[in-house]
Amino acid sequence: MSIITENPRYSCALGGAVATAKNIYGTIPIIHAGPGCGNQISMGQGSLAGFQGVGYIGGNALPSSNMYEQEVIFGGEDKLNELIGSTLEVVKGDLYFVLTGCTAGIIGDDCESIVNEYISKGYPVIHAATEGFKGSSYYGYEIVFETLANKFLKPLPKNNKTVNIFGIVPYQDVNWQGNLEEITRLLNRLGLKVNSFLINKQGIEAFKTSSEAALNIIISPWIAESLANIYKDKFDIPFIRYPGLPIGPTASSEFLKQAASALNIDNDLVQKVIEEETDYAYTYIEKMSDIYKQFRFAIIGDTNTVIGLTNFLINDYGQIPTVAIITDEPKEEYRDDIIKELSSFEFAYPPKVVFSDDRYIISTEIEKAEPSFIFGSSLDKEIAQTLGIPHLSVSFPITDRLILNHAFAGFRGSITFIEDIFRG
Ligand code: SF4
Repeated sequence: MSIITENPRYSCALGGAVATAKNIYGTIPIIHAGPGCGNQISMGQGSLAGFQGVGYIGGNALPSSNMYEQEVIFGGEDKLNELIGSTLEVVKGDLYFVLTGCTAGIIGDDCESIVNEYISKGYPVIHAATEGFKGSSYYGYEIVFETLANKFLKPLPKNNKTVNIFGIVPYQDVNWQGNLEEITRLLNRLGLKVNSFLINKQGIEAFKTSSEAALNIIISPWIAESLANIYKDKFDIPFIRYPGLPIGPTASSEFLKQAASALNIDNDLVQKVIEEETDYAYTYIEKMSDIYKQFRFAIIGDTNTVIGLTNFLINDYGQIPTVAIITDEPKEEYRDDIIKELSSFEFAYPPKVVFSDDRYIISTEIEKAEPSFIFGSSLDKEIAQTLGIPHLSVSFPITDRLILNHAFAGFRGSITFIEDIFRG
């Protein structure tokens, strides 16, 4: 039986695919979809993730076939063909990524054949079936990278100092850019070259050489399994999962140790980096000890953010959890592991873990938990106001603050997070 969800906190598969493709530098998404899709998924993602804007080729500039009744009845292949041709002519890019929405999927347009014609003429065009009904933003993210991997990756000689990072989904992690920057900075300190594909203008050329990596690091307890298996099966690249964002000295140290262990990096170097980074973080964290206050917190957001912030708030910052609400709908088979991640704390009872993206259920669970601080999205501000307690926007959607390179990840991100708590 289908159910109605009030205010879900992600977009459709097409939305996640566009968000991912357009942030791989030089990649131009071309959507074969209904007229409302492009605008909705652009405004509904970047703008709702702290007003991050639509970028070079998002928003109303997103090339779209805008399928109307005529295309639904007679097919939209001619229109798509025309759109690809005109986009190649007027929009500069390294790769043109045709992404299909629900309308094209339902009527069964043969997009692959049209794209193959362009490929045979030497144009850098690729296609993925990303109909919105197939899944959420997270599925869109996965399918974009899987399509690129199947299309472009070739065996290359291994480079023991190169790693690929996956799992952080643009906009669904509102701090995705800043978090990737901090994680890259930390791994660089271990002497590693880091491919994240989504920052530092790495682009499609970096992706094409990602099969030389010694390790894939998936920062998520549940997404990108098939992608990791493509690298493992075709190129013998193992992967590790770090379940949740590493936030603060405890988790960031553990993250570095796990990455270093998988790559056989010299232990003395790892210890040195951890000691220096921990010292740096506590130099600042100590400064707020005079105004430290304990609170009972409720947290609402995607799995990575909830696990990362909950661990930091308990293990490094001595706060008391009440309820942790996970809104990104992780697949059933990963849920027990996610609950385990939120269950064993040395100094606190674990929070109640709830999986729901429905605003009514979320508000009800928060009320029952009786927190004195809420970390969530802008949608959770109202319940905080009703309860008369502080609220800080940390998860998608966010409409009450600007986010550019803000970060919570790593040693440095945890300092920013503490500043945010006192500002909120
Ligand atoms: S769910 Fe389908 S119709 Fe709606 S925006 Fe996504 S692709 Fe378009």
